[in-house]
Amino acid sequence: MTIRFENGIVVTLGENNRVLWNAAVVTDGDTITAVGEAAEMKRLYPDAEAVDCSGKIILPGFICAHHHFYSTMARGMAIPGEPAENFVQILERLWWKVDRAILEDDILLSAQLPLIDCIRNGTTTIIDHHASPSMRDGSLDIIEGAVRQAGLRASLCYEVSDRNVKGGGIAENERFIKKVGKGDGQIAAMMGLHASFTVSDETVETCVGIAREHGVGCHIHVAEDAADRVDSLSRYGVPTVNRLHRLGVTGEKSIFVHCVHVDESEMDLLAETGTIVVHNPESNMNNAVGVTPLLTMLKKGVLVGLGTDGMNSDMLVQMRTAYLLHRLANRDPRVAFVEAPTLLLQNNREIVRRQLGLTLGEIAPGRPADLAILDYHPPTPLSEANFLGHLIFGLVDAVVDTTVCRGQILMRNKQVLTMDEERIAARSRELAPQMWKRLEEL
Ligand SMILES: [Zn+2]
Repeated sequence: MTIRFENGIVVTLGENNRVLWNAAVVTDGDTITAVGEAAEMKRLYPDAEAVDCSGKIILPGFICAHHHFYSTMARGMAIPGEPAENFVQILERLWWKVDRAILEDDILLSAQLPLIDCIRNGTTTIIDHHASPSMRDGSLDIIEGAVRQAGLRASLCYEVSDRNVKGGGIAENERFIKKVGKGDGQIAAMMGLHASFTVSDETVETCVGIAREHGVGCHIHVAEDAADRVDSLSRYGVPTVNRLHRLGVTGEKSIFVHCVHVDESEMDLLAETGTIVVHNPESNMNNAVGVTPLLTMLKKGVLVGLGTDGMNSDMLVQMRTAYLLHRLANRDPRVAFVEAPTLLLQNNREIVRRQLGLTLGEIAPGRPADLAILDYHPPTPLSEANFLGHLIFGLVDAVVDTTVCRGQILMRNKQVLTMDEERIAARSRELAPQMWKRLEEL
């Protein structure tokens, strides 16, 4: 089906960002076929279905480079025991119980709800990191089904850790990686690992072997808290990145999430090996783990992308948080204006290109038809020259009206079309208290 998304302001992004007023994007099936002046597009594609985008801005769909769908049911839950004083206690008292308490139905619902949130926020591609030790086998199939139902794109993995059982999760990753193969542009697979401090050398080596055999990268939390660095130094005699490099985890397809507590030599190693880093500013602030040396990593040429770490599915909010955090942390109002949007708009594109083999994040003929269409009446002139100002101070608070992925309209007039949010949320409210009760008994 051919569709004209017309009469809006089109921001193409990509290598040569153009801002086109009163323009249209034409899609045919899952691909963008033309971009240009609205009247001209109507003349060239008269039979296309028309979607009026007056008073709206049309952007490429956003990419989240690190998410945890499974964290959904923790919202509003009372955490048993004394408040956690540090990051390791947050894991022990909250997340390492949440993952054990979720069962089959919870896995499905806790994927469906953030996927709806992704649609609501124009986030069309997600790299997720899943954990559910009480139901490992087949858990990635459940999430895959939810992603396909939503109509979004995702790279999925299961987090391997030795903390419950040695090598737990390796089989599920291997099975899913084999099943997905090279992927179909909608679903891809990675080898997931929790973090250096919960995996033995032997476990990591097994994971790396499987990842290499199938040509996929590893997706692992790295030096999120100082405890991961201290553990690596004391047990292996080297910092976290060096330990993982020695075991073969680094590389252009591998994602090292966070990298808050890394030194200069580790950053050099990340740059030399082309390893991807994903920054999650809201999560780092929430867990009070410290400030990622983002500007230093970027200066050294490390490819740093942006994720939510399960906090939410709103990439523009993450972008603005990165902007604010690094200005304050550096006490320098000259920084992060370009860097924070670069993580989201350029670097996440490159990360997804490596994972899914697609060039997303650009409105141009031949590119995949993934769009986020937001209500926006610019109060000042808007052009290529000042787009970032509108992005950081205006668009971040604009409401997404229409979301398109693979050419399919997933939300129109703010109505999600592929999922029944009311029914899914109601079922989740029924099951969450049962999950909380199981968690209390752990
Ligand atoms: Zn994470």
